Amino acid sequence: MKKQCPECGDTYNGRADKKFCSDSCRSAHHNKLNSDATNFIRKINNILRKNRRILAELNPDGKKKMHKDRLLTKGFDFKYFSSIYTTKDNRVYHFVYDQGYTELDNDWFLLVENKKGS
Ligand SMILES: [Zn+2]
Repeated sequence: MKKQCPECGDTYNGRADKKFCSDSCRSAHHNKLNSDATNFIRKINNILRKNRRILAELNPDGKKKMHKDRLLTKGFDFKYFSSIYTTKDNRVYHFVYDQGYTELDNDWFLLVENKKGS
């Protein structure tokens, strides 16, 4: 059965369950998939680290009111955070590790810090 290797493009004879022309093409292909996953994780980790740094810089004393525009200007990305905490009175805090925020009115946010880290 003539097949085409998805890694190098060569045609080869192989059984139906054989997907690559050689072991080296098979491992090259899997390494590539792995590094895509690694890059994706790295990209998100970088965004989270940046978000945390921005919050920490803007909130050196552990509690501060901040306008959304200031956060956006710094490059803060609201899509990425590490946890959500909802208080008994239904106030929602988003945390990026130890740095958190909750939305107030009119695009203002209250920045907070979780000093216990939990
Ligand atoms: Zn190949």
